[in-house]
Amino acid sequence: MKAHDGMYIDGAWRPAAGRDTIAVVNPADEQVIAEVPAGGAEDVDAAVRAARAALPAWAATAPAERAARIAALRDVLVARKDEIARTVTAELGAPLPFSQAVHAGVPVLVAGSYAELAASYAFEEKVGNSTVYAEPVGVVGAITPWNYPLHQIVAKVAAALAAGCTVVLKPAEDTPLTAQLFAEAVHEAGVPAGVFNLVTGLGPVAGQALAEHDGVDLVSFTGSTAVGKRIGATAGAAVKRVALELGGKSANVILPSADLARAVGVGVANVMGNSGQTCSAWTRMLVHTSQYDEAVALAAEAAAKYGDRIGPLVNAKQHARVRGYIEKGVAEGARLVAGGPEAPREQGYFVSPTVFADVTPEMTIAQEEIFGPVVSLIRYEDEDDALRIANGTVYGLAGAVWAGDDAEAVAFARRMDTGQVDINGGRFNPLAPFGGYKQSGVGRELGSHGLAEYLQTKSLQF
Ligand code: NAP
Ligand code: MG
Repeated sequence: MKAHDGMYIDGAWRPAAGRDTIAVVNPADEQVIAEVPAGGAEDVDAAVRAARAALPAWAATAPAERAARIAALRDVLVARKDEIARTVTAELGAPLPFSQAVHAGVPVLVAGSYAELAASYAFEEKVGNSTVYAEPVGVVGAITPWNYPLHQIVAKVAAALAAGCTVVLKPAEDTPLTAQLFAEAVHEAGVPAGVFNLVTGLGPVAGQALAEHDGVDLVSFTGSTAVGKRIGATAGAAVKRVALELGGKSANVILPSADLARAVGVGVANVMGNSGQTCSAWTRMLVHTSQYDEAVALAAEAAAKYGDRIGPLVNAKQHARVRGYIEKGVAEGARLVAGGPEAPREQGYFVSPTVFADVTPEMTIAQEEIFGPVVSLIRYEDEDDALRIANGTVYGLAGAVWAGDDAEAVAFARRMDTGQVDINGGRFNPLAPFGGYKQSGVGRELGSHGLAEYLQTKSLQF
């Protein structure tokens, strides 16, 4: 595996201003696999200056040429997909087949979609006697988490580049190697110097310096609601644009007419994928009282079958946090029917696929984001009860509805306070806007809605 000693700034790898480093740990065996520099305010400042200097030319570059560079980036991601998958597996711990299909695969789709959108988007429209131009917002400060390390980078950077913005990225401290690989890919794709810059470092140091920097016009953040609130406040005080992609506690609503076995099976797999470290995971399964016992048995069986195919959690802190939530669930009276708080292996940050029954809507495990392989089965009496429970958290990121026919599921989904709902197991769509209602965030990523986040409008009257 390649390791860089520096930051990617203004089209080249440069030494960091300071000497601090971050040790990258493989969560499957707890071994240190690399060290990367922990950048500080000086590095962030250099990167923002490079991005500012590159902005006028990139903003003025024809959309077709921007599209060509993003298409070239997509091609590099395809050519290096095995290396990407191995790197994500090494630093995040996801099983290799999942890294190949999802962590390496999805960014190719998203980069491809932005290559097409950059070429086809209407950056200019006529409104009465006016011409309205969609212009890039400017310099973007992108702060990303570790759970889908490349996807979250590409969702921000490809959209920003398509819009004509320049970018400084501060990736998660747990997954900097994937970010370095991405910077190499950007370089190989021939994106001009300064258009994309990478500063690895710690959130409260490099991340905060980036969010606070005067030279940043828009902060795009994905991560915890706690940090998101601070970033929103900082951006608000500076009258800076901000996009926040935060936590979730999504409901998987199984209506009585649904195919119960399929809904439960897909629902459990949805939570266990990526070891439960998915902001949009359907961590609350809502089942009608008449089918509850059958659903509990099916879920326990599905979790047990999942068994060894699950990867570890990302780090020791998350491992302790998730096991703490499981203990809290037991203490509050929920019933464990699969998994539990014990670590299933001596080495690595593993947690067994865990299913809780007899969970009530106000329990901690039904309200807070656990970010681990834990699914809670909650009983409802009728549809209004199900809706109250589904909408009864501070979050509103995603969800699922299962019913005998799509129309019935759609009618329920339209009443949910949430940004996206999968109907009867609907497939992932890289063009569908992704983002939250309520405290799950502000703004949307992916597709044309994601592109619009990086644009501001100017109208000329004739
Ligand atoms: P986090 O601290 O919010 O991390 C997200 C990103 O923000 C990382 O790059 C982080 O840097 C950076 N950051 C942290 N503090 C910052 C600050 N004061 N100013 C600017 N940037 C800052 O999330 P986490 O600690 O990795 O995970 C904690 C919890 O967040 C999880 O258990 C989960 O509930 C939630 N989470 C949600 C998502 C999502 O997709 N919605 C993703 C990840 C986590 P560092 O890497 O150095 O911390
Ligand atoms: Mg953190």
